[in-house]
Amino acid sequence: METILINTQNNSSMFDYLIVGAGFSGAVLAERLASQAGKRVLIIDKRNHIGGNTYDHYNKDGLLVHKYGPHIFHTNSKDVYDYLGNFTTWRPYEHRVLASVDGMLVPIPINLNTINELYGLHLSSSEVENFLQSKAEKKDRIVTSEDVVVNKVGRELYEKFFKGYTKKQWDLDPSELDASVTARIPTRNNRDDRYFTDTYQAMPLHGYTKLFENLLDHPNIKVMLNTDYKEIEDSIPFKKMIYTGPIDYYFDYCYGKLPYRSLEFKFETLEQDTFQRTGTINFPNEHPYTRVTEFKYLTGQKHPKTSVVYEFPKADGDPYYPVPRPENAELYKKYQMLSAEIDNVYFTGRLATYKYYNMDQVVAQSLTMYKKIISSQPNVQNHNGQKTAINATAAVKARTLGRS
Ligand code: FAD
Ligand code: UDP
Repeated sequence: METILINTQNNSSMFDYLIVGAGFSGAVLAERLASQAGKRVLIIDKRNHIGGNTYDHYNKDGLLVHKYGPHIFHTNSKDVYDYLGNFTTWRPYEHRVLASVDGMLVPIPINLNTINELYGLHLSSSEVENFLQSKAEKKDRIVTSEDVVVNKVGRELYEKFFKGYTKKQWDLDPSELDASVTARIPTRNNRDDRYFTDTYQAMPLHGYTKLFENLLDHPNIKVMLNTDYKEIEDSIPFKKMIYTGPIDYYFDYCYGKLPYRSLEFKFETLEQDTFQRTGTINFPNEHPYTRVTEFKYLTGQKHPKTSVVYEFPKADGDPYYPVPRPENAELYKKYQMLSAEIDNVYFTGRLATYKYYNMDQVVAQSLTMYKKIISSQPNVQNHNGQKTAINATAAVKARTLGRS
């Protein structure tokens, strides 16, 4: 990977693509366009590093930590897993989470053991099914995040595990959030205590940043950091843009700001081998933070010390979570309609499509977008690097809303 300073105005050094954002969405497209289609790519990020929110680094004690909170890779897509496997060795890892409820640490997602431990019972799988059925408040229509949980496990468990956590995380009652948010957390009548059940669950052996260095290690890819794209879009020539930042920022908030939820991370390194029983402990009911994660479980690192992160939700700050609720979807749709009018800018990723996507989903989205881009350009370089005609005059930057 080469980091550059650019001072060029002539067409021969014009970039085929300016990619805004060096997270998974942008980096995957950079890799594909450079290595498969022979395109010249400039990928730019306003932060001082690549990797987007998955960025990890060794702290001053030599412990590998995730700067923007714990990132655990899981997917059902063999394509995504295999694709990323070209850039990292995988270390198998299945994440397990306990929730602090009624003075106990019990498995979340709620499973057979959760119910037995919480209520001092010895139910079997079929008995717990009946137990939950008897508690469930059946809903005709599942619309909100409250509906999803109450419909499955009833109000009492909803209040113990979901109501407080969700209020903290989103500053909204679950009844004000789309069903999709709490639907991320299943309920199980067996003893499976893994947080995810995806076919592929693994961590990049040497971390995400190393994976990104490998993704971007191509002579056709230049990386520019510490730069907002608006600072250079008029001075660095490029043909097309791929934008993975917040969509409302791209359009200068012309319809108003889209709400995003942010987090404050508090890191601590402790002079002990391990701190807690499992990778993450959730606190639905006490403390201002939602969860505590101990990185050594995720990274597999052996070290005499250990590092943990506390997540404190907040309204302002880096835009980490789109907030899934109807009025925000409406607002996003207005921006999306604007974006659809622009020919030579592609919008993709969690922020530009305002979707609560996991890593594998944005990778899949970028791989699909790559195919779409290539299929819409019949005369592009082939895999062997033999050039065919490309219409440079079509490479003007389309702009809307009076921006130059
Ligand atoms: P990002 O990673 O946000 O990258 C966008 C990049 O664009 C950023 O680096 C940003 O600096 C840059 N940018 C924005 N605006 C500009 C601009 N104007 N100019 C230049 N650069 C700009 N997913 C999982 O699968 N498993 C997990 O365990 C998991 N845990 C998570 C925990 C937290 C706390 C958070 C917030 C997310 C988690 N995710 C997890 C989701 C995961 O982070 C995202 O799916 C993924 O990182 C999205 O990639 P992206 O490239 O779309 O966006
Ligand atoms: N959630 C909850 N209690 C929990 C875990 C999750 O109420 O113990 C709800 C909460 O609304 C959270 C959502 O389910 O925001 C999704 O949880 P997940 O762990 O997937 O969140 P992420 O890792 O994306 O922050």
